[in-house]
Amino acid sequence: MKCPKCGFDNPEGTLFCEECDWRVDQIYRPEKKRNPLAFAGIACALGAVSAVLGFAGVAIGAVAAGAVGMVLSGYAVNLPRYIEGSNKGLCTALSGAGIALSVIGFLYGLVGVI
Ligand SMILES: [Zn+2]
Repeated sequence: MKCPKCGFDNPEGTLFCEECDWRVDQIYRPEKKRNPLAFAGIACALGAVSAVLGFAGVAIGAVAAGAVGMVLSGYAVNLPRYIEGSNKGLCTALSGAGIALSVIGFLYGLVGVI
C-alpha cells in the first residue's frame, strides 16, 4: 500500500507507513501544515509556568496553568509522528517535560488550594 504522505510502497495490510509512520489509510494534506514543535513548546512553557506558580504559592494560577498544560502536552505527545528528523526527539522531549511540569505545578497548586 503506497503511503499518501511520502510515497513509500508498504507491504499490503500495513496500517502505519514503515518510512514515515503516517497512517496509510488516511489522506495526507500537505497544505494543512501544523507546527508540532511550536505546539510542544507552548505546552512545555505552560507546564513551566504552572510549576513556577506552584512553587511561588500562586495556587489557583498553578492549578489553572497545570490543567491547561496537561491537556496541551497530552496532545503534543502525539505530534512527533508528524515531523521528521532531529525535531522529532525535541518535540517528544518538550511534550514530556510539559506533562511532568504541568503535573507538578497542578498538584503543588492543588495542595495550596486545599
Ligand atoms: Zn510514508
